[in-house]
Formats: sequence, C-alpha cells, structure tokens
Amino acid sequence: MDHFDYLVVGSGLFGATFAYRATKAGKKCLVIDKRPQLGGNVYCENIEGINVHKYGAHIFHTSNKSVWDFVNSIVEFNRYTNSPVANYKGKLYNLPFNMNTFYQMWGVITPQQAQAKIDEQKAEAEAALNGREPANLEEQALTLVGKDIFEKLIKEYTEKQWGRNCKDLPAFIIKRLPVRMVFDNNYFNDKYQGIPIGGYNKLIDGLLEGVERKTSVDFFAEYKDSWRNIADKLVYTGAIDEYFDFKLGKLDWRTVSFKTRIEDMPNYQSNAVVNYTSHDQPYTRIIEHKHFEMFGQTVYDCPKTVVSEEYSTEYKDGMEPYYPVNNDRNNALAEEYRKLAAAEDDVIFGGRLGQYKYFDMAPIIEQVLNMEII
Ligand SMILES: Cc1cc2nc3c(=O)[nH]c(=O)nc-3n(C[C@H](O)[C@H](O)[C@H](O)COP(=O)(O)OP(=O)(O)OC[C@H]3O[C@@H](n4cnc5c(N)ncnc54)[C@H](O)[C@@H]3O)c2cc1C
Repeated sequence: MDHFDYLVVGSGLFGATFAYRATKAGKKCLVIDKRPQLGGNVYCENIEGINVHKYGAHIFHTSNKSVWDFVNSIVEFNRYTNSPVANYKGKLYNLPFNMNTFYQMWGVITPQQAQAKIDEQKAEAEAALNGREPANLEEQALTLVGKDIFEKLIKEYTEKQWGRNCKDLPAFIIKRLPVRMVFDNNYFNDKYQGIPIGGYNKLIDGLLEGVERKTSVDFFAEYKDSWRNIADKLVYTGAIDEYFDFKLGKLDWRTVSFKTRIEDMPNYQSNAVVNYTSHDQPYTRIIEHKHFEMFGQTVYDCPKTVVSEEYSTEYKDGMEPYYPVNNDRNNALAEEYRKLAAAEDDVIFGGRLGQYKYFDMAPIIEQVLNMEII
C-alpha cells in the first residue's frame, strides 16, 4: 500500500478541510470514514430532486470573511436566510423574538408598546421571586421575557428538547433571551449566511478533489494498531473517548432522531424551519428541505417535497452522537481525555467529536484554516 503523510479519520468538514489544505501543501492524505458516504454531518441525500440534510438541517453562517471567501472558493453559496416560524397550538409566530412576534402575540404596533408589555410581565416575574435569584430555567426565562413569550414559545419546546420540566432544568441553560425591537426575522446576526448551491456534497467533493478516500472503513476495525505503517501522522475526528477505548469512562451525548417522508405536493409548510412549541406534537421541528435551495417558482417546478420531523432523543450506544452534554461530570472527563490526547505523538484530535465540544461549521473551518500544516 502507498505511504501517506496523513491518515485522516472522518470526512466531515474538519477532516475534509484538513485534507484539502494538506494536499495543497503538497502532502499526501488518505481520508477514511466509517459511514458509507463522505461529508460527515453535512451529507445530503438526493430525494425527488431535493437535497435532504440527512443528519440534521445545516445552515452555514459566519461573520469571518476569510472563512466565507474560502468556502465560496470551493462552491458558491446561495442567499438563504434562516427565518424560522413557531407554531403554537395552530397559531404562527415569527422567530427570533422581534416586532413581528410581538404584533402576533399582543397586537402591539410600536416598539414602545412592545417594550411596555415585556417590562410589565418581567416585573410580575421579579415580584414573584421576592428578591431571590431564579432557581430554575422557568424562573430565569420568566424574568428575561415574561409569561406570554415563555409559555407560548419557550416552555414546552424546551421541555421536549430536554425531556424534563422547565422547573427541573437549571437556570444557567438560558443566560440571555434577546428581543429585537425591529421587524427582522433573520435568525442569525452574522454578516454572511447561505447554503452551497447544489448542496453540501458539492462542498465536500470540492474539498476532497484529488484526495484518496475510502468509505465504510472503521478506523478501529482496520487501522488503529497499524496506521503508522501507512502514514506519518494521524488526524482523528472520531469520538475522543472511543480513541482511548473508553478507559476513563464514556462521555455522554444528546441526539436527535428524524422521521423523513415525501409529501405529494410542491409546498408543505412554506418555510424550511417550523418549530412546534407545544406538547400537542411530540416533535420539536419540521424541516422542509427544498426551501434551503429552491425559491420562488422553482419550489413549484419540483412537484414533490420532503419533510423531516425532529425528535429530541436520549442517546444510547449505536445512535449518532450529536451534542456534547456540558455538565460537570462530562466537562471533567473530557478534560482528562484531552490530556491523554495531548500526550499522543503524531496525532491531531479535531472536530466536534475529537474535541468533545459543539462547534458550528464556520468555526470548524476557521480552526483548520489557522492550523500549521507540516
Ligand atoms: C443536528 C445538528 C445540526 C447542526 N446544524 C448546524 C447548522 O445549522 N449550522 C452550523 O454551522 N453547524 C451546524 N451543526 C454543526 C456541524 O454539524 C459541525 O460543525 C460539523 O459537522 C463538524 O464537522 P466534523 O468534521 O467535526 O464532524 P462530523 O461532521 O461529525 O464528521 C465526523 C466524521 O467522522 C466519522 N468517524 C467517526 N468515527 C470514525 C471511525 N472510528 N472511523 C472512521 N470514521 C469515523 C463519522 O462517520 C463522521 O463522518 C449541526 C450539528 C448537528 C449535530
């Protein structure tokens, strides 16, 4: 077998961007992934001519011009703007909380009226606390935005996400709840956002062009003990605890499961993201994938649509590890694993799983762009 400068475990954005840069620097890389396809969590499956975000909806956003220019040098991005809508018991509200939301909630039409309503409800929550600090998420949220917004748009959605009553969740989960006194439904504050034209697979294909890759190959089954025979260095983007055979204990994850179906109509919900904020539906959101990349008439030129219900799910072995659980136990355990990782010769631990930290896509790319490749 050929000899490589780098064996890259994982073809997600970390591994693919690393392989791209290393190849440009004249290094030879082999990228492997245990999944049957490349791209990690940004992989899209084409169903009925629609790019379906198989591992959860992904919207690229950043204020970092170098990152934006870099991804656009691989594939041009469209002008998708994330503006989710919340459905609470059949009534629709714009998100994030802004003047449209306040008009829908109370019929108020000026920022002064909206602020007065919020201040009045925040004051009620403060009075109920009688001088003490909020003891749980419910009390915290009530003091930040008041009763109406909390009950219709936060409470039951958060309970579905965490599988627990808001009174039993710690206050620190919600530190801030920004309200916008303008009519602006753009969810992100970043300067740039969008979706690769033609889908995320184009981004991954562009990054991995000319790079040797193998899918359906698990590092632990095939290379763990022998990788030094084929490569000088290892870039590992799998789970950090698994690399060390879980010897200090298993890190916890949160996950999401998806129920995806084809609807025989061109337009199901008129928006990519609709949050269901009451317990009436067991899912937290419905994603209608075509709206990430089809706009105006093109929505109707594609006769069918694909929607995914998202269910917040307790993680068990064999499921997709999506979000690190940042409680004291996991933070301390991850730190111990990071110490072991730092002592490994010739191994770079990267990405979401390899660092046991949640990162959006842009910061992952930024990390790799800032790395020295030797
Ligand atoms: C549900 C969800 C929604 C998200 N939405 C957004 C969003 O809207 N916007 C945004 O900016 N970011 C979003 N993110 C974050 C984004 O997914 C990450 O920033 C990005 O995936 C990180 O890339 P990565 O390479 O670190 O990890 P991954 O994409 O997870 O790639 C890791 C790869 O390693 C492979 N692998 C693991 N172990 C092995 C092994 N033993 N052998 C071989 N291969 C292995 C896996 O199969 C996987 O393909 C979201 C994340 C989740 C979970």
